[in-house]
Amino acid sequence: MPATPAWPPKSLPRLYVAASLAVGVNVALDSGQANYLGNVMRKDVGDEVLLFDGASGEWLARIAAVGKKRMALSIECQTRAAETLPDLVLAFAPVKRAQTDWLVEKATELGVASLQPVMTRRTVAERVKLERLRSIAIEAAEQCGRTLVPHIADPLPLDRFLEGCGKRTLYFADENGGDPVATAFRPGSAAILVGPEGGWTDEERAAVRAAKGAVAVSLGPRILRAETAALAAVTAYMALAGDWR
Ligand code: SAH
Repeated sequence: MPATPAWPPKSLPRLYVAASLAVGVNVALDSGQANYLGNVMRKDVGDEVLLFDGASGEWLARIAAVGKKRMALSIECQTRAAETLPDLVLAFAPVKRAQTDWLVEKATELGVASLQPVMTRRTVAERVKLERLRSIAIEAAEQCGRTLVPHIADPLPLDRFLEGCGKRTLYFADENGGDPVATAFRPGSAAILVGPEGGWTDEERAAVRAAKGAVAVSLGPRILRAETAALAAVTAYMALAGDWR
């Protein structure tokens, strides 16, 4: 089936809910979502809303009851089956908060299956606010028409990340040079690994290059900011080996 562009957004509001959705299921919205639908979107009893649960596709729901800080919806029918995404992990060294937020939002729109924060020698961010990143990913998924929310994994030190890559091809964005992505990127389970603002140390570069399945790739002759590099790499991957083909 050809992909249906999710933009421009259809007029129905689209929300992620944690409940498991199916025809006939009643869903109680939390106060934030009830407020959004009732007070921001001016929706009321009888109005339609699209819901997805990150697993079962997308569903048409109708508002059944409205309370002060609550709203109940009932599911009427399925509007889309669950999507299949390229099995692509974006592994990134967290950068400053605003840039990390931006990276998570855009990587979600571009279609990554999961995001893996990786702590490296020159990573400046000491703590990653996972809950915040998860809610940014949910909002981006709501807006761009995804039915799956990217998984945001707990941060890992670089060596643990490398051990856990398994059979994935590990595309290592190396500012010192590597294969051009046009020939390196191939379909199949993959991870793209991007370094911090300060780049890789020589030991890290050697360790990543020695890891099983690692392919060093170049993103061109200019030094990109970490978040630009991550999104440029994901974009190129989607176009050359992912689901934009
Ligand atoms: N401070 C470093 C640059 C770090 S850029 C320096 O001056 O050399 C941050 C990260 O983005 C890098 O570690 C790398 O993963 C990625 N990156 C930036 N530009 C790149 C390029 N042209 N090719 C491949 N990766 C790049």
